[in-house]
Amino acid sequence: MSDSNLSNALNQDWGDKIILVVEDVDTNKIFFDAALRRTSAKILWAKDGQQAIDLFKDNDVDLVLMDLQLPVMDGYAATREIKKIKPDVPIIAQTAHVMSGEREKCMEAGCDDYLAKPIRLQVLIETLSKFLNS
Ligand SMILES: [Mg+2]
Repeated sequence: MSDSNLSNALNQDWGDKIILVVEDVDTNKIFFDAALRRTSAKILWAKDGQQAIDLFKDNDVDLVLMDLQLPVMDGYAATREIKKIKPDVPIIAQTAHVMSGEREKCMEAGCDDYLAKPIRLQVLIETLSKFLNS
């Protein structure tokens, strides 16, 4: 990808979108905050699966970035519950565990896509673009 294509790809305006980020680790939150702030999307933060479901019920969320390893209720269970409420909402899993079979387990829970940590800025924005720009 050329430099100008790269900057175009990163230069998204999602000012009319609401993204729910489910993440329990502060350093990862800092990355998502910096990466998504430039898109002007409204960001909602949840630090466990139950909080994610509660926030999802109370807001018209366009996309969920779901950590799988979470306290209280894990990302697989939270994904299943959110998909029961609104099957069409895109849920992108993000996880540090790159174990064989995890991607399949994730898709079986209802996730639409999957990102392995550490997540690169360009990969994050491109993956979100597939769902938010359609
Ligand atoms: Mg976690």
